[in-house]
Amino acid sequence: MLNRLVIVGGGTAGWMTASYFKAAFGDRIDITLVESGNVGAVGVGEATFSDIRHFFEFLGLKEKDWMPACNATYKLAVRFENWREEGHYFYHPFEQMRSVNGFPLADWWLKAGPTDRFDKDCFVMPSVIDAGLSPRHLDGKLIDQPFDEGADEMQGLTMSEHQGKTQFPYAYQFEAALLAKYLTTYAVERGVKHITDDVKKVNLDERGWISGVTTAEHGDIEGDLYVDCTGFRGLLLNQALETPFISFADTLPNDSAVALQVPMDMQARGILPCTTATAQEAGWIWTIPLMGRVGTGYVYAKDYLSPEEAERTLREFVGPAAADVEANHIKMRIGRSENSWVNNCVAIGLSSGFVEPLESTGIFFIHHAIEQLAKHFPDESWNPVQRRLYNDSVAHVMDGIREFLVLHYHAAKRNDTQYWRDAKTRRMPDELAARIEKWKTQLPDSETIYPYYHGLPPYSYMCVLLGMGGIEVQASPALALADPGAAEREFAAIRDKTRRLTEALPKAYDYFAAQA
Ligand code: FAD
Repeated sequence: MLNRLVIVGGGTAGWMTASYFKAAFGDRIDITLVESGNVGAVGVGEATFSDIRHFFEFLGLKEKDWMPACNATYKLAVRFENWREEGHYFYHPFEQMRSVNGFPLADWWLKAGPTDRFDKDCFVMPSVIDAGLSPRHLDGKLIDQPFDEGADEMQGLTMSEHQGKTQFPYAYQFEAALLAKYLTTYAVERGVKHITDDVKKVNLDERGWISGVTTAEHGDIEGDLYVDCTGFRGLLLNQALETPFISFADTLPNDSAVALQVPMDMQARGILPCTTATAQEAGWIWTIPLMGRVGTGYVYAKDYLSPEEAERTLREFVGPAAADVEANHIKMRIGRSENSWVNNCVAIGLSSGFVEPLESTGIFFIHHAIEQLAKHFPDESWNPVQRRLYNDSVAHVMDGIREFLVLHYHAAKRNDTQYWRDAKTRRMPDELAARIEKWKTQLPDSETIYPYYHGLPPYSYMCVLLGMGGIEVQASPALALADPGAAEREFAAIRDKTRRLTEALPKAYDYFAAQA
C-alpha cells in the first residue's frame, strides 16, 4: 500500500496539507512533516475565498474552535478603492447576482439603474459592509436566506462540484502564523510526525524519482509521495527535479511586496468586514482588519518603484501606528510550475505557483490542490492519468485566475502614472482580449468566461467590469423591448432587505468581542 507522505515545509501550505490528509485518511496514512527552524514562512496570506469554510468543516472544526485562536474576522468582499479615480470605491462581494427574466440584474442596471452605484443597487452586502456589520447576529444566527441555502449539504464535495449551487456570504481573514500554529497542534494530535530541521539534499533514484530527503540532524527521511511546500524556493519540484517554471511577468508585472503587521485598538478603529485593495502609483495596498491588528502591504512592480519608495508610501498610508513596526520585504515569483505533480513529487502552495494576492487566491490554490490530490491520490501503479488530471486542474485554476487579474488592470480607468498607462497596452492572455470584445456587447456569462473551473463565477467578472470603469459595456439590446417592472421590483426588494439588515445586524467588532 502506498501510504507514506513526506511534506517538506511548515507554512500555511504544509500544515493545511498535513491536517487535511489526516482528516481524510486517519491512521491509514503515515505523514511526516519536516520544516526548517532557520528559514521562516513567507509571513503573509491572511485573506481568503468563501469556499475556505469547507476546509475547516472537513477538519471538523467550528468557527468558535479556531477563529479566536487565529484573531480571525469575517471578509464579505474585496473593496477596490481608487482604481477608477481618486475617491471612488466599489465592492466585489460574496453574493450571487440575481437574475430577472433571464438577464442578470447588472444588465437591467446598465439599462436603467436606480443610482450610479451598481454594487449597492444589485447586491445587499455592500451596504452591510459600509456600515461595518457582522453577517451573523450576536446569537450566532446567519443572515437569512438565500445565502446559506443548501450550504450544509456541500460538505465533502470538492469546491468545483459545489460551485454555483450556493454562495456563502463570507470568507475569513486571520493571522497566518497563528493558523499554522493551530493546524500544527491539530495535525500532531492526530499522529503527524513533526520534525524541525533543514532539508539539505533531495535524493533521486536512477529513474529521477525522489528516494528520500537528507536533513541536517535527523538523517534521511523516506516516503512514497513527497509534497513540496517549501514556498517560492520550490526545493523539491523546481530545484531537485528541475521542473520548469512558467513566468506570468509579461502579463502581471507586480513582482514585489512590502508588508507590515500593525497592532491597533480595533474596538476604537472598528472593523470594516472586507479586504481593501487601494490603488497606488505603481500597484496597490491591501488592508486586512483582524482582531488586535491590521495586516497591510504594498504590492508593486520593481520596474516602476524602488523598495524604499514602496515602504515609505506604505508607512505614510498607515500613519503613526506603523512607526515602530518592522517591514517585511518580499520578492514574489509570479507564475506556475509547468506541472505541479512530477514523478512522486507534488508541489502545493507557493512552490506550485502564485499570482499577486489581489483577489486573495493563494490559500484557495492550496485548498484546491489538496482536494484534487485527495481525489487523484496514487496507488502503486502510479497511473500517469491521475497525474495528468491533477496537473490540468491545477494549471486551469491558476491560468483562469491570471486572466481575471489581468482584467482588473485593463479595466481600471485610472491612467495617471506610467504604471497605469502601461497596464492598458501590456500583453494580455490571447483569449482574454477576445473575451473582452464579447463582454463589451453582452455581459460575461458562463459561456464567455474562462471555460475551466477557477473559482470565479460570471458575476465576479461583471463586478470588475462595472466597477473599474475603463471598459465601455452596454445593456443587452433585447432589454429595450422588455418590461422593466420585475427588475424595478427586484431593485426595491434589495433596498428593503438592505434596510432591514443594517437595522438588525451587530457591528463586526461587537460580534467577535462577544464570541471571545
Ligand atoms: P511559505 O510560507 O514560504 O513556507 C515555506 C516553508 O518551507 C517554511 O516552513 C520553511 O521553513 C520551509 N522550508 C524552506 N526551505 C526548507 C528546507 N531546506 N528544509 C526544511 N524546510 C524548508 N494568499 C491568500 O490566500 N490571501 C492573501 O491575502 C495572500 N496575500 C499574500 C501576500 C503576499 C505579498 C504574498 C507573497 C503571498 C500572499 N498570499 C496570500 C499567498 C500565501 O501567503 C501563501 O499561499 C501561503 O502563505 C502558503 O505559503 P507556503 O506554505 O507555500 O510557503
